Amino acid sequence: MDCLFCKIVEGTIPSNKVLENDHVIVFHDIQPAAPTHVLVIPKKHIASMNEVTAEDLPLIGEIHLAAQEAAKRLGVEETGYRLINNCGKDGEQTVHHLHYHLLGGTRLGVLTS
Ligand code: IMP
Repeated sequence: MDCLFCKIVEGTIPSNKVLENDHVIVFHDIQPAAPTHVLVIPKKHIASMNEVTAEDLPLIGEIHLAAQEAAKRLGVEETGYRLINNCGKDGEQTVHHLHYHLLGGTRLGVLTS
């Protein structure tokens, strides 16, 4: 499968990892949109939020725990952060492997659209 994030999971494309466990990896975004900007992804290929099933519920929980741990390691746990999933065309999703942007390190402003 020609999926950029599957290649990052396999290690054929390098990434700057914050953490990795059996099911989830967290790595720095190549084009950071905030002082702290990492991507939290399942190792399992799920194309988007729309493809998450009831079977994936434990995995979604693991993603949240990994995001929490990454926030701690990156020093934004206390100051706060934002976890965002972009889904589909209107959501501006560009990589079709489920991922959550963890953004922090500055006041991010109020969401307007
Ligand atoms: P999306 O727009 O929500 O699909 O987010 C995809 C993200 O992946 C963007 O923020 C990109 O900067 C990021 N990205 C693309 N290629 C790489 C890479 O090779 N390493 C790390 N991040 C990447």
